[in-house]
Amino acid sequence: MSINFRFIGFVALISISFSACAQKSGNNNQTKTTSTAMDTFEIKKTDDEWRKQLSPVQFGILREKGTERPYTGEFDKFYEEGTYYCAACGAELFTSKTKYNSGCGWPAFYEPSVNKNIVEKRDVSHGMVRIEVMCAKCGGHLGHVFEDGPKPTGLRYCINSGALKFEAGKKK
Ligand SMILES: [Zn+2]
Repeated sequence: MSINFRFIGFVALISISFSACAQKSGNNNQTKTTSTAMDTFEIKKTDDEWRKQLSPVQFGILREKGTERPYTGEFDKFYEEGTYYCAACGAELFTSKTKYNSGCGWPAFYEPSVNKNIVEKRDVSHGMVRIEVMCAKCGGHLGHVFEDGPKPTGLRYCINSGALKFEAGKKK
């Protein structure tokens, strides 16, 4: 299932790239990427609007693609039963059922709970080739996905605590 999903995400990414595609190659297109995202996602807000709604830490991660320091996030060593939502727009992203201890210092999940709420995108920043994970509703940066996770998917969604909101208990 997740392979199909990743494929769909990839196709979506390609279409996004095409629509964005006046983009010149080069590394300094971060602003452009952001504005493209704002045109593409269902929830569109200006940076000022997001800043009013989010804490500085949340804003830094979700809107500026920051990464919290490892082992510092509130959900790193946290295994209560419940559901994780996008801290910016409230879209459901993960549940505690697929959360595991990766030892890497950030919350790790082996599968999203609602595939359509997640977008994956190739990220070549910081001299690495990674797959960025974003909220499909608001375009918020969540973290990255790597292929060294446990069964059944073999994936590790490495997500910033600051991008998540947790609600304890079973889903309504
Ligand atoms: Zn969101």
